[in-house]
Amino acid sequence: MTSPPAGAREWIRRDLSRDAASPNLRDYDEACARFSWAEARARLTGLPGGALNIAFEAVDRHVPVRGAQVALRWRSRGEARRDVTYRQLAQLTSRFASAVAGLGVKPGEAVFALAGRVPELYVAALGALKGGFVFCPLFSAFGPEPVFARLSRGEGRVLVTTPSLYEKKVRALRERLPALSHVVLVRSGDEARAPLPEGTLDFDALLATGRPDVAAVATRPETPALMHFTSGTTGTPKGALHVHGAVVQHHLTGLYALDLREGDVFWCTADPGWVTGTSYGIISPLTHGVTLLVDEADFDAERWYGLLERERVTVWYTAPTAVRMLMRAGEALPGRFDLSRVRFIASVGEPLNPEAVWWASRALGQPIYDTWWQTETGGIMVANYRAMPVKPGSMGRPMPGVTAAIVTRAGGRVQVSPVPGTVGELALAPGWPSMFTTYLHDEERYRACFVDGWYLSGDLARVDADGYFWFVGRADDVIKSSGHLIGPFEVESALLEHPAVAEAGVIGVPEPVMGELVKAFVALKPGFDDSEALRKELLAHARRRLGPAVAPREVAVLPALPRTRSGKILRRLLKARELGLPEGDLSTLEPPP
Ligand code: ATP
Ligand code: MG
Repeated sequence: MTSPPAGAREWIRRDLSRDAASPNLRDYDEACARFSWAEARARLTGLPGGALNIAFEAVDRHVPVRGAQVALRWRSRGEARRDVTYRQLAQLTSRFASAVAGLGVKPGEAVFALAGRVPELYVAALGALKGGFVFCPLFSAFGPEPVFARLSRGEGRVLVTTPSLYEKKVRALRERLPALSHVVLVRSGDEARAPLPEGTLDFDALLATGRPDVAAVATRPETPALMHFTSGTTGTPKGALHVHGAVVQHHLTGLYALDLREGDVFWCTADPGWVTGTSYGIISPLTHGVTLLVDEADFDAERWYGLLERERVTVWYTAPTAVRMLMRAGEALPGRFDLSRVRFIASVGEPLNPEAVWWASRALGQPIYDTWWQTETGGIMVANYRAMPVKPGSMGRPMPGVTAAIVTRAGGRVQVSPVPGTVGELALAPGWPSMFTTYLHDEERYRACFVDGWYLSGDLARVDADGYFWFVGRADDVIKSSGHLIGPFEVESALLEHPAVAEAGVIGVPEPVMGELVKAFVALKPGFDDSEALRKELLAHARRRLGPAVAPREVAVLPALPRTRSGKILRRLLKARELGLPEGDLSTLEPPP
């Protein structure tokens, strides 16, 4: 497969007859037509009396059939490795659940984790769910203030962390966190021999007080299970609450959108500090009884390709920011590795530029399948499926069971756009099981998301005549220039096609005649330097590709674009800096390189 000519909208049709396994979702239209949530739920085991517990579905129910199979395959930053079987994971999580209950923590109270990707984090997450506590992960690179803000807003009762993270980020805050009664430290190496800091417990010692055989608490589908904070791309992060019933969506999307099946080795590169790293880095794959690869180390292109090869990864879920970094590392590098076992590659978090899909087709031997969802939706809502042709740049079609539409707001009402191609807000019909049930301490904001029976996502998109959805931009980021509505994604994607461009962020700058002027910020690939000639060339390239009405009028080169901790380009910050406005909440900003 080669790149299409500039501007072409070609489809990638994959020859599935060469793949060993046929797709889980073979006939999309049929799956949608005969869909029922009751059937989706019946794919899980459930507990007596209609109870449903995420940890039971992810772990315990597998023990009789695959207790000796590896559930978690952990690779440390260094040489250490650890395999945890389903049986061991069931025992460890039971110990955690019963030990925490033994501390006097009540079901419904919040257990937080602030740790890198170590096995204990996974035990704490699943153990908390098993015990009926609400689990909330925190990204380990957060500084003390973001940690404090989340712990206090979420009323954390227990925190699982490490001695060094505790010392750097939590100890000084304890007085301001009256609800936090237990801090549990995961200690390794020399740390384990050092005295425990005052007011903390040792993770292993705590586990030893628990019982390895206690059953999962009989939570109801509507019992709160998870608390996730959004990425803070558009402003202050919001805390979204999710219930145990979400596991139905996690399982179903793992089946259809990620094509998971027995025998798979699955790798989700998102950190469990974010919703993707929990919904798909822990829960969904385990409900399918697959082996989950967990890599403690940070991004490194060679290491990643090496892991795909050595660990025999079959399904890989990653993000556009990682894909752009792999692209930056060059097209020749993946050719040095055997990636033939990788059956399916999917992505989420930001729009996946068409260039990235074409690049993957060449460099990795298959396209990347984009999926769209949000912290609020708890699971995948729109996806490209293995059995369906990919239109590079499209985020795919709604999951069976999910009704999505493009709507416009007017006078406090919304209307579904009847004409394909119209740009409007992406809306979902409530009723899918992983939908958030509130924003923490902000019921009003939660209610404002629902109008005329639709959940409004805040993202703009359009749908084509084949039912494929195309992301246009966040409602806040859309640019109005000389009467045109311009989505930053389209402009950024065109810039990314230029060989010098590694990353692009596009904003609107107020201008008296046009209303807004399109301005682009780019970071360059290795081997390219900023010069007026290059900037002129980029503008000319964009004009050829997009036409003068949509192309940027100005371009600036930055060493790197500002991004959230989860890797998303922060257009609001580019804009604030351009206009000299206050920069807003930067608590989740990635530090500059
Ligand atoms: P905040 O809500 O705090 O501003 P955020 O919206 O980035 O942050 P998340 O819930 O992590 O927080 O991200 C969801 C958003 O990410 C979506 O609403 C969308 O804007 C973007 N996104 C996710 N997947 C895709 C995709 N496949 N294509 C385009 N955008 C995507
Ligand atoms: Mg959001």
